[in-house]
Amino acid sequence: MIRKIKGTMDILPDKTPLFRHIESVMRGEAARYGFGEIRTPMFENTELFERGVGDTTDVVQKEMYTFADRDENRRISLRPEGTAPVVRALLEHGCQSDPMPLKYYYIISCFRHEAPQAGRSREFFQFGTELFGSESAIADATVISLASSVFDRLGLRNIKLHLNSIGCAKCRPAYRDALKAHFGEHSGELCDTCHTRLEKNPLRLLDCKSPICSAIARRAPKTLDYLCDDCAAHFKTLTSALDAMGISYELDPAIVRGLDYYTRTVFEFIAEGIGAQSTVCGGGRYDGLVESLGGAPMSGIGFGMGLTRVILAMEQQGIADIDGEKPRIYLASLGERAQIKAAEITERLRREGIFAECDLVGRSLKAQMKYANKLGADYVLMLGDNEIDSGRAILRDMKNAAQSEVELLGFTLPENA
Ligand code: ATP
Ligand code: MG
Repeated sequence: MIRKIKGTMDILPDKTPLFRHIESVMRGEAARYGFGEIRTPMFENTELFERGVGDTTDVVQKEMYTFADRDENRRISLRPEGTAPVVRALLEHGCQSDPMPLKYYYIISCFRHEAPQAGRSREFFQFGTELFGSESAIADATVISLASSVFDRLGLRNIKLHLNSIGCAKCRPAYRDALKAHFGEHSGELCDTCHTRLEKNPLRLLDCKSPICSAIARRAPKTLDYLCDDCAAHFKTLTSALDAMGISYELDPAIVRGLDYYTRTVFEFIAEGIGAQSTVCGGGRYDGLVESLGGAPMSGIGFGMGLTRVILAMEQQGIADIDGEKPRIYLASLGERAQIKAAEITERLRREGIFAECDLVGRSLKAQMKYANKLGADYVLMLGDNEIDSGRAILRDMKNAAQSEVELLGFTLPENA
């Protein structure tokens, strides 16, 4: 038997209602905040991610699914994230001349070759938002507020916002030097990857998952102490806006984010109690990204929220039982004539927009009643030869077992309770 690829998942009909529920909350909130849905291809030229995500990141160095295209001599990658493709698309479609800000959202699968575990898979689902063309810290607060309101609407509690600023190109050099000095003192202890990063991109060392590197990283200089005046003022406005909006946060110098393009604001929403992979949402500002992908300079801010981690948190809080749709009516039948009549009435009801079911496997009448109950049908209509001849049949309310006689031709169901 052929099995699915490690780190991927099948979502069967008993679980899709939960996914759909979460997606519809995400879509609803995105719409309320004025974000329009954007859809981009599942694969792109590898170079887009090398430039957009950063070629010293784990994502690009170790995790990307890259392959040679069949008919042209070029490398293609399955998207490991959604931001770079959105930037590519907006540049390709000339959206930079549209009125600012540009606000996009997407719900997509992403692909990363990581070690599969709870909350970490190789194909994963992400709700992402991107807001372009505003440098204002109010934009940062708006994007954070959108993520937070998704959690609220899903009924999730205890999702903590961790906030930091990693400064801009102006404050970076001094901070970079301080980091180099700090990690340089420990250069003998660093992992191989970090050893090379020390020269190329010391900021990445803060993000290393190896126990020794991360212990050294915990004692590293903090970005907030190295912000230039502009970045410090920006961060102050952000925290004031969050205070005014009633969104609580915790300053966390450990948040630096795994991708190269972030500037200033970085944040994560953490759900305690769902295991090691507790970051349900991560995001930040990426003011240099658009320019580095060939556009005119344009600031941006956004986040990615992992659907399976949201589900882990919902399960942990006992709010993950979402039922699929249940039939309004089941048409039970006895005998072949009745079976055809049941099919005819079922068809009429479906055309009227009602979820109706009838027997397709030849169950006994008793077994049909049991099955209708299992499906959760609100009503059952019982049909046999007598009912067809008289044109009247018994409609049973499955909730309270109340029965009433209805006309087969054109009967209607009571309004949904
Ligand atoms: P992490 O450090 O937790 O892997 P990241 O910094 O790599 O996160 P981002 O690229 O910012 O993650 O992606 C945004 C969100 O997507 C994460 O906060 C997480 O909820 C989810 N996510 C990322 N990678 C995976 C994965 N392999 N499996 C499931 N969800 C993921
Ligand atoms: Mg990761």
